[in-house]
Amino acid sequence: MGDERWFYRSDEEWITIVERLKQTSCPHCKTVGTLIRHGSLSGFDDSNPHQQTLRARRIFCSNRKHRPGCGRTFSIWLADKIRRLSITTSTLWTFLQLAVVVAIATAIKTINYPRSERTFQRIWKRFDRAQSGIRTALLGRGLPPELPAASARRPAAAQVLAHLQVIFPNTDCPIAAFQQATRSFFV
Ligand SMILES: [Zn+2]
Repeated sequence: MGDERWFYRSDEEWITIVERLKQTSCPHCKTVGTLIRHGSLSGFDDSNPHQQTLRARRIFCSNRKHRPGCGRTFSIWLADKIRRLSITTSTLWTFLQLAVVVAIATAIKTINYPRSERTFQRIWKRFDRAQSGIRTALLGRGLPPELPAASARRPAAAQVLAHLQVIFPNTDCPIAAFQQATRSFFV
């Protein structure tokens, strides 16, 4: 399936995906009619500190009972979750918006979220590494806005966030919208 990821945002979207599963081709072997539901992935993040929340649904390309599938599985992620990251896209969005204008340590204190400073430093590095890929994906959808010079502590990163907002204007979380539209994780 290459690097392509599948996302959904609401129960309605999930129901639609399930209804179309029998007509959907497997991202691995392209066979149609073999996909079945195969449980889910849960985990802790900032949306609920006390219990795990649903992160992704698993799909199995069935090769059981003489069915012609490839026997592999894949995940369909909730668009506001990020693989191997225990914060939601909206917390990441808030953090990044702060981190481009103030010191990262200050951004961490400001959002007052119970994760160590080291965790957020790591998240920043992960975003930093992903920046050029994000910029390329956004440029495929539209031009970035013009930013006044020296408006941010980290102008290149600030430009990526501003660009993201221009491409996905009518959404509560541009990062979730990015993930769903580009079928890839933001970081
Ligand atoms: Zn398959």
